[in-house]
Amino acid sequence: MPVRVAQEWFAICGGCEVTILDVGEPLLDLLPELDFVHMPVIMDHKLYGQTGELTEMEIPEAEVGIISGGIRNEENRELAIKMRERVNTLIAMGSCACYGGVPALANQFEVDEIYQRVFKGNTTTEPGEVPRVGVPPLTDRVYALDEVVQVDIKLPGCPTTPDMFVAAVLHLLKGTPFALPEKSVCDECPTIREKKAVATLKRPLESVEGVGEALEAVRCFMEQGFLCQGPATRSGCGGLEGGVPRCIRAYMPCRGCYGPLRHDANPMVEMMGALSTIGLDAKQIPDRAAQFNRFAGAGRLRPRRARR
Ligand code: SF4
Ligand code: SF4
Ligand code: SF4
Repeated sequence: MPVRVAQEWFAICGGCEVTILDVGEPLLDLLPELDFVHMPVIMDHKLYGQTGELTEMEIPEAEVGIISGGIRNEENRELAIKMRERVNTLIAMGSCACYGGVPALANQFEVDEIYQRVFKGNTTTEPGEVPRVGVPPLTDRVYALDEVVQVDIKLPGCPTTPDMFVAAVLHLLKGTPFALPEKSVCDECPTIREKKAVATLKRPLESVEGVGEALEAVRCFMEQGFLCQGPATRSGCGGLEGGVPRCIRAYMPCRGCYGPLRHDANPMVEMMGALSTIGLDAKQIPDRAAQFNRFAGAGRLRPRRARR
C-alpha cells in the first residue's frame, strides 16, 4: 500500500514545492510508493470541500504530512493543528517552516505597523483599508511550525535540496531515523583559511577572487572581506554525507539559509565571534540582527521598539 501524503503551504514563496517537483527522475521511483491526497501546488483539492460545502477546513487522513512555510495567520495555525491530528509523521519543509524563514523578518515590526505600511502608507499604491472580512487575521508574529505543533522531521534550506527531501522520504519508507548533519557550512568548505586580519567588508555584489579556480586554491570568502555566514550555518546543502556547500560551489558566500547550527544556537553571537577572529567588528554591519537571522527570525527577531 502506498504511503498517503498530505502537503500544505503557509507563509511561503512556493520554492519548496518546486524542490519536490525538481527531484527529477528519482521522483518516478518514489511515486508508486506515495499517494498524495492533498497538495495545493499540483492538485485541486479544496479545504472546504470541492464545492465549498463544508463549514470547517478538512484535510484527508494521511500517514505523512508535509508543511512548508511558517505560521503567519490564524488559518495557518488551525491548519497546522488539524494536520498534526491527522498524520503520524509531520515534516517541516524549508527554512520558513523550520525557523520562520524570510517572512519572519516581519517580526521586527508590530502587526499594526505592518498593516499601516502595506495598506495605508505604501508609496507605490493608493492608500486603502485594512481588509478584515473574509481573510484570516495575522498572528502576532511569524511562528516556526514547531512553536505551534510537534514536528518529527526538519528539512531546512531556502529551499531545501531535492536530495534532502528524497533522503527523508526514503528513511520514512524504510522506517529508519533521519538526522540532519551536526556540522557547519565551514566544516564542509574547502577554501583556504589563514586567519589573517581583514580591513573592511566588501559589497556583496563584487565577485570573490578566484572564480573558476579549484576551491582548494581559493582563499576563504570571509577572509577576502565578504560576509559569509558559513560559521553559524548548519551544513547539508552539499549533501547529507558531506560535500561542498551549494553557494560555495558557485563562488558565492553562504547566506545562512540552512539556519542555525543547533536549535538553541544564536547565529548573531556565533557570527560576531567568527568576525572577531579576522579582526572585524560586527557592529559595522548594518541591521545585523536581521542579517544574521535572515532565515531564522521566528522566536529570534522582535519588534524594533521592544528591542531598545
Ligand atoms: S524556505 Fe525559501 S524556498 Fe522554501 S518557501 Fe520559504 S522562502 Fe520559499
Ligand atoms: S567563512 Fe565561508 S568561505 Fe570561509 S570557510 Fe566558512 S563557508 Fe567557506
Ligand atoms: S551555502 Fe549557505 S546559503 Fe547557500 S545553500 Fe548552503 S546553507 Fe544555504
